[in-house]
This record gives sequence, structure tokens and C-alpha cells, in this order.
Amino acid sequence: MSRIVVLGAGVVGMTSAYALAKKGHEVCVVDAAPGPAEAGASFGNGAQLSYYYTDAMASPSLAANIPKYILRLDPAFRVRLTLSPAFMAWGLRFLGNATQKAFERNTTDILELGLQSRSGIADLSEKLEFDYSKTGKITLFSSKKSLLKAEGLSKLKNRYGAGQVVLTREQALEKEPALAHYGHFFEGAIWSPHDEAGDSSLFCRNLRVLLERDYGVCFLFNTKVRRIQTRANELVGVTAETEEIQCSRAVISLGAWTAPIAKTAGISLPIWPVQGYSLTVPALTLAPVASITDTARKTVFCRIGDRLRIAGLADIGPVNGKFKEDRFRTLLTTAKGIFPKAGDYDGEVHAWTGFRPVTPDSKPVVGPTRVKGLYLNCGHGSLGWTLSMATAEKLSELVGTFSAHCSLISDLDGCHLRRSGT
Ligand SMILES: Cc1cc2nc3c(=O)[nH]c(=O)nc-3n(C[C@H](O)[C@H](O)[C@H](O)COP(=O)(O)OP(=O)(O)OC[C@H]3O[C@@H](n4cnc5c(N)ncnc54)[C@H](O)[C@@H]3O)c2cc1C
Repeated sequence: MSRIVVLGAGVVGMTSAYALAKKGHEVCVVDAAPGPAEAGASFGNGAQLSYYYTDAMASPSLAANIPKYILRLDPAFRVRLTLSPAFMAWGLRFLGNATQKAFERNTTDILELGLQSRSGIADLSEKLEFDYSKTGKITLFSSKKSLLKAEGLSKLKNRYGAGQVVLTREQALEKEPALAHYGHFFEGAIWSPHDEAGDSSLFCRNLRVLLERDYGVCFLFNTKVRRIQTRANELVGVTAETEEIQCSRAVISLGAWTAPIAKTAGISLPIWPVQGYSLTVPALTLAPVASITDTARKTVFCRIGDRLRIAGLADIGPVNGKFKEDRFRTLLTTAKGIFPKAGDYDGEVHAWTGFRPVTPDSKPVVGPTRVKGLYLNCGHGSLGWTLSMATAEKLSELVGTFSAHCSLISDLDGCHLRRSGT
């Protein structure tokens, strides 16, 4: 087994390192930040292991609402158009995935991946501490129409063993008494018993300890990658700001930063960063025990140990990477409106922003590239932690399979994970 360099120490890079190291590879992880999951989406995400809430981002309802998002009539979503060719190309493919048929196909494909991930996370939970909880998820719907639509999708998911149940308002209150303090009306809910939660940042930090201790994985932090070096279509190394890293095998798992680095090796990836925000406050006794998703306000509440994490907002458009105070305030006001008594909003509030690396069909990109020795594990969108164990495993199988020769990927669909059996 030869050395493999994993670029990125977010949850996708860390789980890639784990799967590769378990297969006997010598692994080295490189990241610009001083530690794992410090600078990317894996730090402050919604903390959900949503194996069954795998709805693709591109959907008929999102497409229908785009004018509203452009006009800023929905606080949770914003679309800002830009003339960037990369954005337009991504946007057109995204819209192409917004049909009902594509939405259902993408959602169930992602669900299959989620299911593969679930046992991997459960196994790791016996070795790592990460505030893991198996408290299930309640998704709230404000109208009969939206509940009915969700019920249809739920039936589809139940064919995969989701075990989801439609709850009346009263049944939801019985299941989660904290809903008595919910600040808005809801018509009903869907209970998803097998969805889980935890802290993906803590997961990555403790996974680092395990990787160093049990597998001898090395870490190069504070090492910002500038470009991939190739010769005659073969990987020869990685140029970082501070050093040249010679290698004949590497995996790019740089989350929302993947596309520009892949481009230096001549690989175009339609991955667009979609900005979101979270806040973490001390949980109060009236905080929900189950994870709660408010679909009308597109906000998720989740207990992580004695903290309450609230995540939401999706800003699609030109990326400048900045934390926007007004957007954070929107999330804070929404959170206070939904569950005013669940968290200590006047105490220590940890504010965070991050970028979901979103592909047009919301499916991750995993596998070899046309550059011999260069692999991808990226584009996990809104569900990177949930899917990470499955994509890492897939990657480790593909590295084994294709390591001896160059595998051509002519288009993105060739390296997307497909529904099993197709
Ligand atoms: C608001 C929000 C809520 C979310 N909620 C959930 C949820 O509840 N459940 C879920 O499963 N997913 C959720 N997600 C999605 C999930 O967080 C991401 O899909 C996942 O974290 C992506 O992991 P990653 O390792 O690919 O990328 P990242 O975690 O972003 O890691 C990329 C790494 O690359 C490094 N890097 C970048 N550029 C360079 C460079 N040039 N050189 C070296 N290193 C570099 C960064 O420092 C970083 O460590 C959410 C995302 C957001 C934004």
C-alpha cells in the first residue's frame, strides 16, 4: 500500500483518512487550518445525522420560490444572481434537477448513502466521544398541504426502512413536550425515529486522536494548498504555500473550496458554496430532546450535550466568505420566535457561518479523476457529516480498484454515486 495524501481535514477528509488507513494505506492529511474541522462547514453545522431526512436541495418547490428568494421575501433563503459563467452553469444544472422525478431520485439516492453511513457512525461512536444522541427527529409542517406532500415522500422513504410516522399536532406534543412552547402554529409533523445527532467538530477532533494513535496517520496543519501538480496526466505532488508535497496519490476533500483546487489539475467540478449560519447557546430545561426541523422557517434545533445548536439560512449567489451580521441576526430572531424558552439567547451565543459544498443534484462526487492518482471525495452539500462514512468507504474501495491505472471520468455523472443496481 502506498502513501495517500488527503487534502482537507473536515469531516469528509477525516473519514476518508480513517477508511483508507483501515485498509492499510499510509495516510497524511493536509489542511490550512490549525486543526481538524476548524475552518470549514464541519465546525458549526446543524449537528444532524439525518439518515432519512435526505431531501435534495433542488426541488420543484425551491424552483417555484426562486423569484421570492431573489426579492428577499423569505428570510431563510436568498438568491443573488451573478454573471459568473461557473455560477450560471451550476445554476442551470441545479434547475435541471428541480423536477419532481429528479428530486425523488436524488433524495432516495442520498438516502441509500445515509443508510450506508449509519452503521459506520454507530461503530465509531463506540470508539469516540462526540455528544452522540439517538433521539430521533420531528419535522414540523405549518399547513395541511405541506404535510400531505411530505407524507408522500415519507411513504417512499419508508420503503427503505425509515420508519417515519405522520403525527397530528397532539401526537407531536406528546412525543416532544417542549413543543408546548413552540412559538408558531403547526398543523402536524413527521417523526423520524432513526435520525441521530452529535457534534461533528468534536467527532473530527477525537477522530484525529484515534487516527494518530491507532493508524499512524500524519497531519500537516497550517498548510494551505495552492495547486495540484501533474505531469503527463499523472499526479506528482501538491504545492502548498509553505512546501512542496511529493505524492503519487491524493484525495481532494476541501469542501466548498474543492472546485478551485481541482481546477489546477484541469478538473471542472460544479460545486457551489451555499452559505448558512448557526448559533449555539446553553440549552435550557425547555429545550427539545428530539431534533426539530421547522420546515416553514427552514431552521433546525438540536441538542448537543448541554448546548442547543440552531442552524439555517441558505444564501445562494456570489461568494465572498464573509460573516454577515444581518443574516446572523435573522437566524437569531427566527430562533427566538420558534423556541423562545429553549436556549439562553441572552447568555453566551456562539455565532458561526459556513458553506455547504452543493452539487446540482445534491449528491457527493466520489472516485478517481482523469488524472492518474488523483481522487475526489467532495460535494456533500447539506449532509456532509451524515453521508461521510459511506462516501469514505466508497472512496477506499475505488482507490483500491483504480490505483494501478488511469480511470477516465468524462463527465460528472460518471463519478457521482449511483443508485445501487443501476
Ligand atoms: C449551516 C449549515 C448546516 C449544516 N447542517 C448539517 C447537518 O445537520 N448535518 C450534516 O450532515 N451536514 C450539515 N451541513 C453540511 C456539512 O457541514 C458539510 O457537508 C460538511 O461539513 C462538508 O465537509 P467537508 O469535509 O467536505 O468540508 P469542510 O468541513 O468545509 O472542510 C474543508 C476543509 O478544507 C480546508 N481547506 C480549504 N481550503 C484549503 C486549502 N487551500 N488548503 C488546505 N486546506 C484547505 C478547510 O480548512 C477545511 O478544514 C451543514 C452545513 C451548513 C453550512
